[in-house]
Amino acid sequence: MEPVKVNPASLDKIAADLKKDPELAIGNYLYKGYRIQISKYKASGAERVQQLYKRRRDNGLCIVCGTKVTRKNPSTGKLYRLCDTHRSLIDQKNKEKAAARNKKK
Ligand SMILES: [Zn+2]
Repeated sequence: MEPVKVNPASLDKIAADLKKDPELAIGNYLYKGYRIQISKYKASGAERVQQLYKRRRDNGLCIVCGTKVTRKNPSTGKLYRLCDTHRSLIDQKNKEKAAARNKKK
């Protein structure tokens, strides 16, 4: 993951997050040419994936590819978890699954 360039104010925010809720501070940062990486020590692969998904979700990004999600789910009023591309891919898969199920009947 590419580091996010930060300024002194964001450094303060990261430090504050780290004290309050370390999960919020997780990330890869670039400060004046120095890389700061905050991640959970000895996190399992599953934990890391979960954190990545959570971070993307919290930032309104597609949980699969990290693209900005702009469309909201009309029934909940919340942003979709997936971008248009991945949402249609999953819709299609679900339809195929449903079709396969129907054939078996
Ligand atoms: Zn996507």
